[in-house]
Amino acid sequence: MKNKKFETQAIRAQLERSENNEHSVPLYLTSSFVFDTADEMRAAFNDESDDFIYSRYTNPNTQEFVNKMCLLEGAEAGVASASGMAAIYTTFMALLKSGDHIVSCSSVFGATHAIFTKYFPKLNISHSYFNTKHPNEIEKLIKPETKFIYLETPTNPAIELIDLEFVSAIAKKHKLLLIVDNCFATPYLQTPIKFGADLVIHSATKYIDGQGRVLGGVVVGKKELINEIYLFGRLTGPSLSPFNAWGLSKSLETLAVRMDRHCENALYIAEALEKNSALENVSYPFLKSHPYYTIAKKQMKAGGGIITITVKGGYEAAKKFLDKLQMIKISPNLGDTRTIATHPASSTHCKLSEEERVSVGILPGLIRVSIGLEHKEDILNDILQALK
Ligand SMILES: *Cc1c(COP(=O)(O)O)cnc(C)c1O
Repeated sequence: MKNKKFETQAIRAQLERSENNEHSVPLYLTSSFVFDTADEMRAAFNDESDDFIYSRYTNPNTQEFVNKMCLLEGAEAGVASASGMAAIYTTFMALLKSGDHIVSCSSVFGATHAIFTKYFPKLNISHSYFNTKHPNEIEKLIKPETKFIYLETPTNPAIELIDLEFVSAIAKKHKLLLIVDNCFATPYLQTPIKFGADLVIHSATKYIDGQGRVLGGVVVGKKELINEIYLFGRLTGPSLSPFNAWGLSKSLETLAVRMDRHCENALYIAEALEKNSALENVSYPFLKSHPYYTIAKKQMKAGGGIITITVKGGYEAAKKFLDKLQMIKISPNLGDTRTIATHPASSTHCKLSEEERVSVGILPGLIRVSIGLEHKEDILNDILQALK
C-alpha cells in the first residue's frame, strides 16, 4: 500500500477478510481474545507474537484505524485513543517527567491549555508559550530541561499558521521533539512528518469522523516514542472503543472527497464575505489577503474547512448574528457535514482573560464557522441574511 495514492490507501488499507469473506470490514465487539495453547498466550504477553490479547491494548478495528492513519501521515507507528484529549494527555504523560519543560504555541486548544496551566504545575512540569505570530521567539524560550515543542497549525480558532519547516529546524538544532496537533488540516491537507515532526496528534472526532457521530483520537510518529505512549495507554486505559474505530476507519474512506468539498465551500464563502461591510475581517488560509498565505501554500494542499469572521460591533453584534442564523446551528463542534457557528470568546475560550484572548487573536466579534457540506450558496445565504 505504501506506493499507492492517498485516496486508495484510505479505502484499501483494510483488515484481511475473515473466513466469512465479508467485503466491508466487520466490527469486533469483543473485550478479549482466546489462545489455542498456553504457550501462544505466553508468547503474546512476551511480545513474541502480535496476536490480539485484550481490547484495552489493541483490537482488530482499532488496529485497522491506526494502520491507515500511519499510512496517510507517513508515520512508522501509532496508537488510537478514546478522544483527541486522551491522545494529547497520554502523549504528555508517557514522554514527560517531573522537572521537564515544554515550549508551545500560545493558541492551543482550550483543554490542552488547561492541562499546561492547571495540571502540569502539580507534576512539576513547566511550559512557555511563544506568540504564534513570532516563531522566532522559540529559541529564546528553550532551556536545558526543555523536552519538546508543541504546536497546532492552523490554530484554533484564530486560523494562524506556523511554518512547520522553520520550527522543525529549531527542534533539530536543539535536539527537541516536535509534536503537532494536525486536527484542523487532516493528513489529506498537511503531513507534518514530511516537514520534520516526530509525532502527529489528531482529534478524530472532527474531520476524520466528519459526521459528528463519535469521539476518537490518534497519535502517530516515531516507533520508539509510540511504544512508550502505547504502553502508558495500555496500562491506564484511555482506549478507543472498537465501535468508534470501525466508524472512524470507514470515515477515512471518504476523507479526501469530503475535504475537497469542505475546502471548495470554505474558499467560496470566504471570498464572497471578504468585502462585506458588516465585517471587520475574514480569515481563511487560502485567501490571498491572509497574512499566512505563503506558508499555507507551502505546507497545505488547500485551506481547510474553517473560516473566521469578525463582525463589526463586538460581542453584542456577534450574539445578534448567531441568533439570526436559520440553518446553521450554534455548537462547539467542528468538522461536521453540517455548518456550525461558534463564538469562542463566550464559550470554548471563556476561561481565558480578555487580555489572553486578544493576544491569541480571539476578539469579541470573532465567530468561527466550520463550513459543512451543504450547498455553498445555501450556507452563504444563511450567513448573509444573518449579517443584515
Ligand atoms: C477538538 C480538538 C481537540 C480535542 O479533541 P476531543 O476529541 O474533543 O478530545 C484537540 N485539538 C484540537 C485542535 C481540537 O479541535
